Amino acid sequence: MLSDSHFYFNKAADVLNLADNIRDILLSPRRSIKVNIVIESENNELLHFTGYRVQHNNARGPMKGGLRFHPSMDEDHAGALANLMTWKTAVVDVPFGGAKGGIDCDPHSLSAKDLSLLTRRFVEEIKDVIGPTRDIPAPDVNTNARVMSWIMDEYSKFEGFSPAVVTGKPLHLFGSEGREEATGRGIMNVLAEALKEQNRDFSDISVAVQGFGNVGSHAARLIAEQGARIVAVADHSGGVANPDGLDIAALMEWVAIEKSVKGFAGGTPFNSADIIGWHADVLIPAAMEAAITVENAEQVRAAIIVEGANGPTTPEADEILHKKGVLIIPDILANAGGVTVSYFEWTQNIQQFRWEHQRINDELGKMMRKAYRSVHEISREKGIDMRTAAFVLAIRRVAKAALARVYINTKVPL
Ligand code: GLU
Repeated sequence: MLSDSHFYFNKAADVLNLADNIRDILLSPRRSIKVNIVIESENNELLHFTGYRVQHNNARGPMKGGLRFHPSMDEDHAGALANLMTWKTAVVDVPFGGAKGGIDCDPHSLSAKDLSLLTRRFVEEIKDVIGPTRDIPAPDVNTNARVMSWIMDEYSKFEGFSPAVVTGKPLHLFGSEGREEATGRGIMNVLAEALKEQNRDFSDISVAVQGFGNVGSHAARLIAEQGARIVAVADHSGGVANPDGLDIAALMEWVAIEKSVKGFAGGTPFNSADIIGWHADVLIPAAMEAAITVENAEQVRAAIIVEGANGPTTPEADEILHKKGVLIIPDILANAGGVTVSYFEWTQNIQQFRWEHQRINDELGKMMRKAYRSVHEISREKGIDMRTAAFVLAIRRVAKAALARVYINTKVPL
């Protein structure tokens, strides 16, 4: 995974003729932390976990990124995802750097009490290196507003009242309007820009969505509200399809109870793996990384891919998709809505002032559309794909800030 993010970085660094020493400086994480966490469970068992936080870059502001509770979490994963956060915050131009972390665990096998204890022990271990001006965690895979509340509470025990230490908190505990749906809304915003460019409208398109968690479900709902048909949705245990468009509100209600789209009566079932080759105009991979690989890239029939997940396309698959003429709106642009509203939440916490929901949606839409246009402009100017263009934009911004901090006499070579 780390090699994939470095591959995309280097492709853009080649376009910029970036010297090797600058590449090294920009790719090296500022700090990487690995901690042991032992808790005594509700059943009086001793449970042992490993927690990670990789703080990649803080040239443009405090480091920012989610915490993932998943058995695949390790230093390599956290490093790759932290790296992506640095470029993501730069693409949408929010004043943050990049970080990522989490705990190697299966939260579904833990009781709520054990999960709370585990989260609190993790915060105790990393409290000295996070903070409102240092590094601000947020939700990611298998973490949510409830986990963020525990983080805020635990950190505040040591440092005093600190709502700005974490974003993605519940609305009643210094969270922000629109944060939960923000990644999905940002996906809808960038897709709207891509369609506008092609003189198409939401009402002309069909969409297939992989993953129906926080990102996929809200993206599907908001895109359907614009008039598109969501013809297929798949998650870890199965898929449901309806050529006339699935009733997304009803599907969300079903999933809230059943924890999977499987068995939903408003569509016909299919095998999850078939979602990648679904006959639809747009494909949104919004589950885990490496969803589109050399094994299934040829099967893709969509003309547009909007990357809701982080790192869903491997470099080999990316190459195949470009040859097929697929437009890929890359993760560091497409799913940046989440961190953008995290920025609004952090700002509100610091100002101790609440923004109305409409203001959040308007500002988010403005920032996502602007980022899309900036990336598209670079892509057109240089004749490069949207992912490489997004990296070019991000690398320029981060490198300029990073080098301006240290250079005295030398000119910034960008
Ligand atoms: N976990 C989300 C991401 O990958 C949000 C990060 C944040 O809000 O800091 O972008």
